[in-house]
Amino acid sequence: MVENVSQMDHLEIEVNRGKEFGPDDILLSIKAVINGGAWPKKLDVDVFFDALTRDGRLPLFTCGCGVFECGGYYVDVSRTRAGWTWRNRYAPNNPEHADHATILEPIEVHFSWANVRAAAGTLLAALQTLRHDTPTARLTTSISSGDLSSHLARYDEQAQALAREL
Ligand SMILES: [Zn+2]
Repeated sequence: MVENVSQMDHLEIEVNRGKEFGPDDILLSIKAVINGGAWPKKLDVDVFFDALTRDGRLPLFTCGCGVFECGGYYVDVSRTRAGWTWRNRYAPNNPEHADHATILEPIEVHFSWANVRAAAGTLLAALQTLRHDTPTARLTTSISSGDLSSHLARYDEQAQALAREL
């Protein structure tokens, strides 16, 4: 069954350059904007590209400081032919929440695959442009996280795998 496009939610991924904390670091703020409103915290780009080809309760959003347990959250991600579903925001494992079964917010959104492919493509293109324009800089989403620029080939493969699958 093909769902009516008008019933779908809309995903956009926003990439903003934050303040630089070193001459060789580019700090990025990457947000998921759904139906025009940004979901809290930062999208974990590694998990986002993994999620294109795998289901599960995934640590899709991380804290602005880069420490998932601090303020990140899990989302149930599932894929069907009709589209991509994100369900509920779940607490990370931390002293306040014993496991990641605590629902922080019950919510469900559905994206068409055309929308997901476009959003993933825009994100990848933004990262590739930064890589091209600043080849020696580290592209990072927090002072404690790794360099995304070394992951771009993998993101590209994951986006291609999604395109092949559908
Ligand atoms: Zn934090």
